[in-house]
Amino acid sequence: MQGGSLTRIPEGRLAQALAAADDAGLRALPKADVHCHALLNAPLSAYEQVLGHELPRPPSRFTDFTEFGDYLAANLFPATRTLAGMRALVRAGLERMADDGVAYAEASIDLLLPMHIHVAPEAVIELVAEERARIAPRLRWAPEIGINRRVPPERLWPSFVAHIASGVFSSIDLYDDERSGDLREIARFYRMAREHGLVLKAHAGEICGPERIRETIEVLAVDAIQHGIAAAGDARLLDELARRGTQLNLALASNLALGLSSGYESHPIHALLAAGVNVALGTDDFTLFGAGLSDEILRLHRAGMPVSELAKICLGPPA
Ligand SMILES: [Zn+2]
Repeated sequence: MQGGSLTRIPEGRLAQALAAADDAGLRALPKADVHCHALLNAPLSAYEQVLGHELPRPPSRFTDFTEFGDYLAANLFPATRTLAGMRALVRAGLERMADDGVAYAEASIDLLLPMHIHVAPEAVIELVAEERARIAPRLRWAPEIGINRRVPPERLWPSFVAHIASGVFSSIDLYDDERSGDLREIARFYRMAREHGLVLKAHAGEICGPERIRETIEVLAVDAIQHGIAAAGDARLLDELARRGTQLNLALASNLALGLSSGYESHPIHALLAAGVNVALGTDDFTLFGAGLSDEILRLHRAGMPVSELAKICLGPPA
């Protein structure tokens, strides 16, 4: 796998970081964010700057996935419709992560972007390569190809082939409403990505049940699942994930904001770790959920997760 395996931060270092009065200790630890979407990683203020006007604050809890999508479409997407806007947002997101001590990030770039801004895929790919080089002294960005499952795959294929051919991308992900789309129609994307050595990821088990995680593993042969929290209620699936070494890239603030979990104390992460599943973290959409990786670790600890459990999470960048 191009990204390499994540590492775990030793208990002693975590304990030392948590002993600091605020989150300064956690921010100083080099961390890995392996579930985030590059354009939704910037502070909301970066969107306001691009658009030239103020935006309504996102609600702390969305009533459902539809309300979440509506907020994105009405308020944020207009800022992503030019190359300059896109560059400003990608850059602000990467800077924010670097400020939070993220040393390695798998952040996705949506295949639809070139179509939305009426440029060739190569223009977006070049922008990604430039911003990756710009942030490289502070953060290793492993760009990820983002596939929207609600878009007919044949529409995305030419852009996908160009992205793969560029050699700029290290992984692929499939997202948006997991109730839509037929995974078998997207399987050829995953086969091609595998042939080129990319890490295979897909969102599953976020709003759907464990059967969607099983199907995703069977049909797409993924290395990692984004979210996958529905596995926590299925003992057989937990065993399978642990045995297979499938990594679940969790995003807790996202789960809370979308009403999929009621709090850090009761979040499925506890059951997943207890079952021996590989767990890593991500911020998903910082612009909307407002929690960085240091915030997530601190909140978990304050909710009662001992350092010995935190040390089981794959929080560190690849060696
Ligand atoms: Zn996500």
